[in-house]
Amino acid sequence: MTTASMGLHNRKQPHVMCRRCGKESYLKRKHYCSHCGYGKTAKIKAYSWNNKTVNGKRKDN
Ligand SMILES: [Zn+2]
Repeated sequence: MTTASMGLHNRKQPHVMCRRCGKESYLKRKHYCSHCGYGKTAKIKAYSWNNKTVNGKRKDN
C-alpha cells in the first residue's frame, strides 16, 4: 500500500461555475456563490475593496 495516489483523492472542486457572475465560485453543497452571493441574496455582493466588474457593470461604493 502506497500513499502515492492518495494525494489525488481531494481534487474534487467544491465550486462550479456561477450562472450570475460566471466565476467558479458557486458552492454546490451550500447552493450559493461565494463571489457574488448568488443563491443567498438577490443583490450582487459587492465590497468597496472589490470594485471589479460584475456582469459587465462596474459596481460603485
Ligand atoms: Zn457568482
